[in-house]
Amino acid sequence: MSETITVDLVSDTATKPTRAMRRAMADAPVGDEQRREDPTVNALNERVADLLGQEAALFLPSGTMCNQIAIATHCRAGDEIIAAQGAHIDGAEGAGAAVFAGSFVNRIASPRGIFTGDDVRAAVRARHPKFPRTRLVEVEQTNNRGGGAVWPRQAIVSVVEAARAHGLLLHMDGARLMNAAVASGEPARSYAGSFDSVWLDLSKGLGCPVGGVLAGSRDFIAEADIWKHRFGGAMRQAGILAAAGLYALDHHVDRLAEDHANARRLASRLAALPGVRLDPSVVETNIVFIDVGANGLSAPAIGEAMLRHGIRLHIQSERRIRAVTHLDIAASDVDRTADLLESMLSGQ
Ligand SMILES: *Cc1c(COP(=O)(O)O)cnc(C)c1O
Repeated sequence: MSETITVDLVSDTATKPTRAMRRAMADAPVGDEQRREDPTVNALNERVADLLGQEAALFLPSGTMCNQIAIATHCRAGDEIIAAQGAHIDGAEGAGAAVFAGSFVNRIASPRGIFTGDDVRAAVRARHPKFPRTRLVEVEQTNNRGGGAVWPRQAIVSVVEAARAHGLLLHMDGARLMNAAVASGEPARSYAGSFDSVWLDLSKGLGCPVGGVLAGSRDFIAEADIWKHRFGGAMRQAGILAAAGLYALDHHVDRLAEDHANARRLASRLAALPGVRLDPSVVETNIVFIDVGANGLSAPAIGEAMLRHGIRLHIQSERRIRAVTHLDIAASDVDRTADLLESMLSGQ
């Protein structure tokens, strides 16, 4: 790509570590992480376990590895995972559940990726030698393809109850769990504490360069640690990276509210444009989906035109655009984006 991007709304993975975060990384005490001798990694694991209401945690290189290690730990060949259609584990991890655990996703069609205990009860297979074994229920908090929708606590409680009644395990993809916590005012552990495994991503809105932290019971984490080694994800002086995570938990959580305000600001400006289909009231966190199909314009053409102005959007289909706000996006960036889209869509 030849254009210089000055406003990158493609994803909250676009964040770059701040100077202060880089200083915290440079100064971090380190040791051999594989031997559990890295004090900064150990501190991050303890901190996240406590934050999520779990016994133990494991620092990993990415969120995808958190999901895949959790699935490999919970499931064996022939198992089925209940998750929302369009979940990250369903379509965005190279069929890792099939590759590593011989398992597959039974997708539940649900509004904005949020389903109910009744949906779980309807999806669970009866026990019979000819059926797959339903093993795991996965909840994505917030739901990415659902436009950053926050699972209400009551929906989570109903899914947990249904899963437990059928002896199923529960996994939470918490890539943006802290966005949910900040948007709703619910502590993260009130969403995650009753799950068998849960993780949060450090490299999205929290602004770290690398990493995710997977949490669960001590037994679960001991098993997950074996998979971490198998995957080649065990590191050495990884405290340099974990220090960014500790810094982010101190400084970058409360400010997620600014990202949510910027997303709402963008949504309410764009919703007023001719031909745009967008309901600003569904924007709860930092993701905005913009449907431009009704304008007769193509999303890829708009994406290219915006790129010429240094603004990058995620083009999801012929008619759908996604914009994600984050640490490196200011209200003035949102205004510039809205101004440009306004002049393009009004044909000026
Ligand atoms: C980004 C994302 C992941 C994967 O995280 P990485 O750190 O990019 O591997 C998993 N689930 C959801 C919902 C995500 O948005």
